[in-house]
Amino acid sequence: MKILTYPHPALRAKCKPLTGLDEAVRTTAQQMLALMYRHEGLGLAAPQVGLDFRMIVINFDGDPLVTQAEVVAINPVVIESKGIVKDREGCLSFPGLYQDIRRAKTVKVQYYTLDGQLNEMVCSDLAARIWQHEIDHLNGGLFIDKMGPLARMSSKRTLEGFVADFAEDVKKGTIPAGTEPKL
Ligand SMILES: [Zn+2]
Repeated sequence: MKILTYPHPALRAKCKPLTGLDEAVRTTAQQMLALMYRHEGLGLAAPQVGLDFRMIVINFDGDPLVTQAEVVAINPVVIESKGIVKDREGCLSFPGLYQDIRRAKTVKVQYYTLDGQLNEMVCSDLAARIWQHEIDHLNGGLFIDKMGPLARMSSKRTLEGFVADFAEDVKKGTIPAGTEPKL
């Protein structure tokens, strides 16, 4: 398992709901958490590792030792959102790119745990930002879609770099030949 970077087409897939929880799903969640920690991320969504189902992993503290800050969320949805706040945001699929992004300040989310329990969580600021960012991934949404004109302009060169790297990886065969980039 590895993290796919922009403009890999898997990042634009609309993911399917998970309809059953088995050992394979649990193992995948653990692998995603381990990968997220290795890259010092706060969240990781299934499409970022090439899987097209609705699962995300989060650690609100970004610290593997703080397991109470860890969440594995199946079929998560934002059911309420309030306020707007602009803050710095990055994504493991866009290494090194950080921009100010507008998000709801507070969200109420609903999701299933790995035990199949329906859970609800209300959170604000960074935690709310992580939820929104990760849930967007499940719909093929990326934080670059939410950039304002200035952020977009100052990201232009970095994004072109990602596109060039992707083409290079296809040429080298590290990404299978014929894989079409999706901007
Ligand atoms: Zn992301």
